[in-house]
Amino acid sequence: MPKHDAYYELRCRECGRRWGNQPRSICESCFSPLEVAYDYDWIRYLLGQDAMDPRAAIRRRISERPANMWRYAELLPLPDGFEPRLPVGCTPLLRAPQLAQRLLGGKDAETAALNLYIKNDAVCLPTLSFKDRVVAVALGQASAFGFDTVACSSTGNLANAVAAHAAGLGLKAWIFIPSDLEPAKILGTQVFGANVVRIAGSYDQVNRLCSQIAEERHWGFVNVNLRPYYAEGSKTVGFEIAEQLGWRLPDNVVVPMAGGSLITKIKKAFDELIKLGLVEEKPVKFFGAQATGCSPISTAVKTGSPEIDPQKPATIARSLAIGNPADGHYAIRTIKNTGGWSEDVSDPELLDAIRLLAESEGIFTETAGGVTVGCAGKLYRQDRILPEETTVLSITGNGLKTTDVLAGVYEAERPIVPKLAEFEAHLQARLARVDARKEIAGVAV
Ligand SMILES: *Cc1c(COP(=O)(O)O)cnc(C)c1O
Ligand SMILES: [Zn+2]
Repeated sequence: MPKHDAYYELRCRECGRRWGNQPRSICESCFSPLEVAYDYDWIRYLLGQDAMDPRAAIRRRISERPANMWRYAELLPLPDGFEPRLPVGCTPLLRAPQLAQRLLGGKDAETAALNLYIKNDAVCLPTLSFKDRVVAVALGQASAFGFDTVACSSTGNLANAVAAHAAGLGLKAWIFIPSDLEPAKILGTQVFGANVVRIAGSYDQVNRLCSQIAEERHWGFVNVNLRPYYAEGSKTVGFEIAEQLGWRLPDNVVVPMAGGSLITKIKKAFDELIKLGLVEEKPVKFFGAQATGCSPISTAVKTGSPEIDPQKPATIARSLAIGNPADGHYAIRTIKNTGGWSEDVSDPELLDAIRLLAESEGIFTETAGGVTVGCAGKLYRQDRILPEETTVLSITGNGLKTTDVLAGVYEAERPIVPKLAEFEAHLQARLARVDARKEIAGVAV
């Protein structure tokens, strides 16, 4: 294994034991998860803390780099001489005034319209989900550790990302998925030439199997033995939000949760920016979002439990369907310690929310995004999020990957012959139908 003389290393989250840099995710002394710890003085030095006005100098230095997540390289566990192949990240942060109008009514809606943002990870990523961020970091380490084969257990998006990035880096890929994933996510893995293994079982069973395989084979499992490095990639969502808000932190973030890693890493990102003096310190509330059919983290928050009670998933939000989330305990802590909350929505509610976001802001998100928007609506209505607070919704994946959940929602129109008169007749019939529907709904036409 090549030697790492890095300014970061693995450290146990509970007992603090240091493990250097190696493909490992659990502390052998106390069986707690490992996390990447950094020498922040060295990062300050790397970024130019010696300048006259270090804050301005570092902000400028970062902002002048190419618009992708590698602009935060010093804050990621990248091996020496790492050369990124795919530009990943720097997705849009957009105001969402029309969504605010539809989530809230009256005066509150006008206020919220000025303060609601979408961090849109449905676009500008190689496989159209935020998982490209984590995989890009994990595979950098996989190469440094000498793996020629990478692998993962996945609820879909990770499968797509590992397959694509492995192809780009010339690595072999083995992808393990529950057999009932959305067809687009299976095809979107196979197309990269990855070996796909469908397992007749839940994600949690797939994941357990992968832990066993990782013991047997010298493979880099991005979310098993490379998990601490993988998880750091999620921080870039937080770095980008802060930079795009003009190097300010928001008041609230609403984040979808599967394994519970992303929400904890956005928190870590904000804390690091504060530590480096790049943003003013301020309290940020973290809100979690899950589907009711798989809501172990949200249930723990609502019942006040510090630990996860595993669930058997039953939801169309497959990308979030992890019944026994690896970082559940830390997600609960992040939510509680920041004064946030967690909500969940039913499958019909998340479908409505997908359509609401699409119709109001022109953003088509997958089921996970429907969960986030649906939960945000609830949090506003519960006054846990106030309209005057700057609130960012983390939209994590593209709707074209889960179109099957909308099958049957829209009727297929009868084709018409290409004649103007035919269209005019068709138009009149359609408008009459719309009017009739409004009358039924009791809306004045
Ligand atoms: C994986 C995933 C998440 C949640 O990620 P965790 O870090 O496991 O909580 C959210 N949204 C989408 C679309 C995902 O694929
Ligand atoms: Zn330990």
